[in-house]
Amino acid sequence: MIRKCYSRRKFLVSAGTTASASVLMPNFAVAQAAPRVVVIGGGFAGATVARALKKADPRIAVTLVEPSRTFTACPFSNLVIGGLRDLKEQQFRYDKVAADGVEIAFATATGVDPQARTVALDSGTTLAYERLVVAPGIDIRWDGLPGYDEATAEKMPHAWKAGAQTLLLRRQLEAMEDGGVVIMAAPANPFRCPPGPYERASLIANYLKTRKPKSKLIVLDAKDAFSKQRLFQNAWAELYPNHLEWVALSKGGKVTSVDVGASTLVTDFASHKATVANVIPPQKAGRIAEVAGVADATGWCPIDAVTFESKRVPNIHVVGDAIIAGGMPKSAFSANAQAKVCAAAIVKLLAGQAPSQPKLINTCYSMVAPNYGITVAGVYEPINGVLTDVQGAGGVSPVDAPRSARAQEALFAEGWFNTITREVFG
Ligand SMILES: Cc1cc2nc3c(=O)[nH]c(=O)nc-3n(C[C@H](O)[C@H](O)[C@H](O)COP(=O)(O)OP(=O)(O)OC[C@H]3O[C@@H](n4cnc5c(N)ncnc54)[C@H](O)[C@@H]3O)c2cc1C
Repeated sequence: MIRKCYSRRKFLVSAGTTASASVLMPNFAVAQAAPRVVVIGGGFAGATVARALKKADPRIAVTLVEPSRTFTACPFSNLVIGGLRDLKEQQFRYDKVAADGVEIAFATATGVDPQARTVALDSGTTLAYERLVVAPGIDIRWDGLPGYDEATAEKMPHAWKAGAQTLLLRRQLEAMEDGGVVIMAAPANPFRCPPGPYERASLIANYLKTRKPKSKLIVLDAKDAFSKQRLFQNAWAELYPNHLEWVALSKGGKVTSVDVGASTLVTDFASHKATVANVIPPQKAGRIAEVAGVADATGWCPIDAVTFESKRVPNIHVVGDAIIAGGMPKSAFSANAQAKVCAAAIVKLLAGQAPSQPKLINTCYSMVAPNYGITVAGVYEPINGVLTDVQGAGGVSPVDAPRSARAQEALFAEGWFNTITREVFG
């Protein structure tokens, strides 16, 4: 409660109501500027929060902290790996975000002091905040798979953060002789983009079928079930019967270690030698979440499902892949939806008002081949503090849809990518 009153006074002053504010708290009035919100991470979640805050109330001073001047989007990066798209089409700059009045600090946040309410940057700058938003996406658990570390990732790319890793995997596939064996390791839940490994498997299989027909992809999976499974498996049976093999957890699919020297992925039952290996390792919230104290023992961040405020540290909100989001998948669509709800809640909290109960939507498109798209959609609301699937509100593409419907979904997928990237960065 004390927190709310504190913020409200500052907000009233910044809103130009000096007279009423000075009645509330005379000593505060002259010195206080607009409320300050710092956002760490300029991805789908962070850039959305920053712009939404500025749009909702231009008086809020918003600083977005992001080390890279160019953001490289993961959605559609599997098309780059499959040779169907250029990486440049994945890249976006922050000029339009800055044009909205968001201050951008091109730096890495290295520390958070929740008592002083400050964020330390590697540039040496310290930023003060009334509310902080942590949106760092994921980091790889470098201790999560024996044999797999940062050096190994240069030989066996994960390509689970788009950019150099995406191109590395693409080039390895291009350089592979026809007849080579590509092996992908897919992780256990939770991880960024649940359908992502299977979209990637489809598009690698499409590349092999069309360009290196004597080659094959084997997916070694740490799960028995995955997103849009029936749709993917039906499509694989139809399109890639000779080029894609999926090995479930119960069939010995879980990769327990890798041996980069021998180019092998090891399971409890066998060693699989790969010509090209794509290892998607276990993940956790971006490191700064741990540093700020908002991640728990799972490596992910528990949040209030209405405001996205951390359950561990007051005045810090967390959005995007870093959070424990109940039924919501870790997707760019989810990150964008959560960010808008979080921004609206912050505006209300700064004004001393109660945030509204949200409803959030997610849709994940996947490409199985050129002109072949499939979808899963869901609606979520906070129930007992957990973002919960609204029964009957979502669903997946029909299993028996004609190819014309798949072609239409591929167009919807492209439309979605163009729309979301324009909204977040354009
Ligand atoms: C292959 C693949 C395909 C995908 N396809 C889809 C799809 O089709 N649809 C979909 O909705 N989602 C898709 N996703 C998932 C989507 O990319 C993520 O869910 C989304 O990027 C999450 O947004 P975010 O803002 O949480 O993280 P990010 O977008 O990763 O942004 C995090 C940002 O934080 C910055 N950062 C991290 N630490 C710091 C720090 N200490 N200081 C400052 N900045 C920091 C990073 O530089 C980064 O820019 C896909 C993912 C992959 C890997």
